Amino acid sequence: MGNFFLLSKKRKAVKRWVVGIWSYFVFINIVIAQVSTINDILYQRGPFSRKDSLRGALTLLRSCYDVLFYDLFVKVNIPEQSISGSNTIIYKVITEFERIQIDLFSQLEIDSILYHHQKLLFTREHNAVFIQFPFSQVTGIIDTFTVYYHGKPNVAQNPPWQGGFIWEKDKNGRPWVGVACQGHGASSWWPLKDHLSDEPDNGMRITINVPQSLMCVSNGVLVGQEDYEDGTTSFEWRVHAPINSYNVTLNIGDYVHFSDTLQGVLGILHLDFYVLSYHLEKAKKHFAQVKPLLHCFEKYLGPYPFYEDGYALVETPYWGMEHQGAIAYGNEFKNNNFGFDFIIVHESGHEWFGNHISIGDNADLWVHEAFTTYAEAIYVECVHGKEKALEYLQTQRKKINNQAAIQGPYEVNFDAWPDADMYYKGSWMLHTLRTIIADDALWWRALRKMYDVFRGGNVKGQRVRLWFSQFFNIELSSFFSQYLDFREIPILEYRLQKKANGDYTFSFRFQAQAPNFQMPIDVLLNGEKKRFWATTEWQAQNLSLTSEKDFTIDTENYLILTQKLK
Ligand SMILES: [Zn+2]
Repeated sequence: MGNFFLLSKKRKAVKRWVVGIWSYFVFINIVIAQVSTINDILYQRGPFSRKDSLRGALTLLRSCYDVLFYDLFVKVNIPEQSISGSNTIIYKVITEFERIQIDLFSQLEIDSILYHHQKLLFTREHNAVFIQFPFSQVTGIIDTFTVYYHGKPNVAQNPPWQGGFIWEKDKNGRPWVGVACQGHGASSWWPLKDHLSDEPDNGMRITINVPQSLMCVSNGVLVGQEDYEDGTTSFEWRVHAPINSYNVTLNIGDYVHFSDTLQGVLGILHLDFYVLSYHLEKAKKHFAQVKPLLHCFEKYLGPYPFYEDGYALVETPYWGMEHQGAIAYGNEFKNNNFGFDFIIVHESGHEWFGNHISIGDNADLWVHEAFTTYAEAIYVECVHGKEKALEYLQTQRKKINNQAAIQGPYEVNFDAWPDADMYYKGSWMLHTLRTIIADDALWWRALRKMYDVFRGGNVKGQRVRLWFSQFFNIELSSFFSQYLDFREIPILEYRLQKKANGDYTFSFRFQAQAPNFQMPIDVLLNGEKKRFWATTEWQAQNLSLTSEKDFTIDTENYLILTQKLK
């Protein structure tokens, strides 16, 4: 999703206090060490609870089986804001087991769990469900069980950031229902193995039963629709590709549908648009930007990843979310100063980074968000050229906060970043990397190559870091570590001293937190670019300059701070 960070009221009060202290320290120039300490105290990670571990850890009770397919049925009772349904889980046994864990929020009741017509015993702890099988499940076999459940799912407090169900009404007073649950968890509304590492290999069938006058849009392709005598209609959707659990969604409303096709790099791609009936004309005009956008992303990032499932935008009562093949759109048909709709571009970018290249633990969420936020600039570059893209990147740079490390802790479904740095700082980390590489053709080759290297399965953030080092054949581990594992931006300390012969001595070093941090810097000397490789050790270079005015360090294309020493 997009740029947002949440602070509780209490935290906000403390933050104001800290901002005061912060300004004081900046003023008297003792910045880094002091504020680090304050931030460590303020944004301490953990301690984590048993509940966090049950949700986030990939224990044997979860890794012992691989989900092949989910067959989800949900009946939505709008007046009561409740749901009831079932999920049939087809799984493959990875290591022999008698007991496994699935997940379903505790306020949803489980009616039964059936395995070959036999009721399975289960226990529940927080939002985890432990299922006992009557006999050992043998490695390699493929089998299935069904969970029947009902209840009232959480109402979203501030969707999409604080997720859950959204029970709204449109302008005509018709029901308008959605669900967004990134971070919060798909298990807040349906039973599954709620761990990012396991996407159903063969996708899903999602059947949603709603009142007859309304339409339900879910992920993938609409394969069937059936009316019942009780005044309801079931919409059957089929997702062919593996899908992140938080991407699974439903949208119920007075929708109208229009479609288009795109001649893409892999053939015809079906584009479907679902908007509220009174927005049809507006949407037809506004969504015209989708085709050039997809052409741009296909050019730079690789083919649209889900040709079989198609591309879709669905109008939602919340801002947006990268729901695979059914992107949530709630930006009121508005373009930004750069002439595009941020939600369309950002959430569509997630089809490549997030939905195609997917992480296996929320700790690595930067892989989804940094690349997608950078993809916004790629779109600007594709349409308006590099100079305009640099202008766009500067708008992102203003939103960097440096409050906490972008890298999160593993195995606890961490979702408590205090700022949006994984988006904007993440994007700037990538722009800085592109500057270091200083070869645009090679840079585009790397982004395109990622598409193939990290397709299928779930990628670890560490692997992405390493892969770039290997691809570019440059040691980048300290570079990634500085921008991801620490909240501080590296500071280039330097001196410029005039010598007796009229030349200058330029001494420089980085002040950084990552061990062995090193990175090139570009300096403009009499208008000519010269590159120096800076480390955390002092180095000195002789420069022939007419005056100090002919010396500029490039801070426009590097995310660094500079500090001139006497
Ligand atoms: Zn996003």
